[in-house]
Amino acid sequence: MRFQTLEDVVVQGKRVFVRVDFNVPLAGGKVADDTRIVAALPTIKALRAKGARVILASHLGRPKGGPEAKYSLRPVADRLAELLGAPVRFSADCIGDEAIAASRALADGDLLLLENVRFHPEEEKNDAEFSRALAALGDLYVNDAFGSAHRAHASTEGITRYLSPAVAGLLMEKELEYLGRALSAPGRPFVAVLGGSKISGKIDVIQNLLPRVDALLIGGAMMFTFLRAQGKATGRSLVEEDRLDLARTLLSGSDAAKLILPTDTLAALDLEGNDTGLVVPAGEVPEDRMGVDIGPATMARYSEILRGARTVLWNGPMGIFEVPAYAHGTMALARALADATKVGATTIIGGGDSAAAIAAAGLEHEVSHVSTGGGASLEFLEGKVLPGVAALSPRTGGA
Ligand code: ADP
Ligand code: MG
Repeated sequence: MRFQTLEDVVVQGKRVFVRVDFNVPLAGGKVADDTRIVAALPTIKALRAKGARVILASHLGRPKGGPEAKYSLRPVADRLAELLGAPVRFSADCIGDEAIAASRALADGDLLLLENVRFHPEEEKNDAEFSRALAALGDLYVNDAFGSAHRAHASTEGITRYLSPAVAGLLMEKELEYLGRALSAPGRPFVAVLGGSKISGKIDVIQNLLPRVDALLIGGAMMFTFLRAQGKATGRSLVEEDRLDLARTLLSGSDAAKLILPTDTLAALDLEGNDTGLVVPAGEVPEDRMGVDIGPATMARYSEILRGARTVLWNGPMGIFEVPAYAHGTMALARALADATKVGATTIIGGGDSAAAIAAAGLEHEVSHVSTGGGASLEFLEGKVLPGVAALSPRTGGA
């Protein structure tokens, strides 16, 4: 690791400002899904165990430039207190007198959650004054919000100009370790599986991954843009006409042999699952039908390829998995990743919908790593430097 982590700092008795990703869904004034809170627990527990005074900051939702009750982090404080079995104090503003007083009143091991940083529009503007006001609350900074690391905001980037050292939390470290190793030193064969709705959102991912992988398996709607580019019949499937040239370029490029397309597809008359679909050769979708999933021959072939892989990176569902009748390909792929993990492969899942799919399959604990950052993991896989990561204090000397 080129940046500092919790291991590099002494936190005993210090006020530690921790940026977490508590952007959780709320319903009826309660946390509806606490996955992201649970993901931050290792860092929070480690800091408390070392006698730190923990100050937690996060955004939640997209408030329109001021406080909005429905985006308050107060319910998160309650849920966090339940999960830890310890009181969590709350400051109704993330900066100013109340927050400063609350941060100074903390004893070793105490916890304070600050109200939504996006209640101040200066957060997203990465405003210097606001960054400084946040920095005033802590003695050092920990970033554990991988899911927000692709944004240069005050609490993820600006604050590090006024508060140092800035070190990675355990979740941040784990995310960067898994995704970073896949890109820089993967065990081989390295197989990537890309699906989802649009090729346009994933062009940079394809271009960054293709030279690095041994095989890139295509699924989801993007397969039809490739198939159309080959002059095949795609019926009413989602095809991005303006990406056909790009698809042709990829299909004729130097890494074309690594690009693997489905051989069969499930073609349905509607998108609601009323028609459970017809399995057809991938390039022979009838005019009145739309490709909604990969077919059984493709599932078998992809599973076989994954069985021999040492590193697997999966982003994007194989079909419209929200409809149970069209979820078989995605579920089969989830199973194939779990099986590959059992025989020693490192398996990594990036992307919000893919994470939801592996959870729906009940296999999220049977793969090596499910990234908590949808957009952030995608940008990382595109080869971009994430501002929140670049802002971490470099590790001097040694590794
Ligand atoms: P992720 O969030 O994992 O990066 P995406 O957002 O790229 O994944 O894609 C997920 C969406 O792709 C899902 O809503 C799914 O319904 C859609 N999708 C997958 N296959 C198809 C298809 N054949 N036609 C239309 N949409 C599809
Ligand atoms: Mg998505």
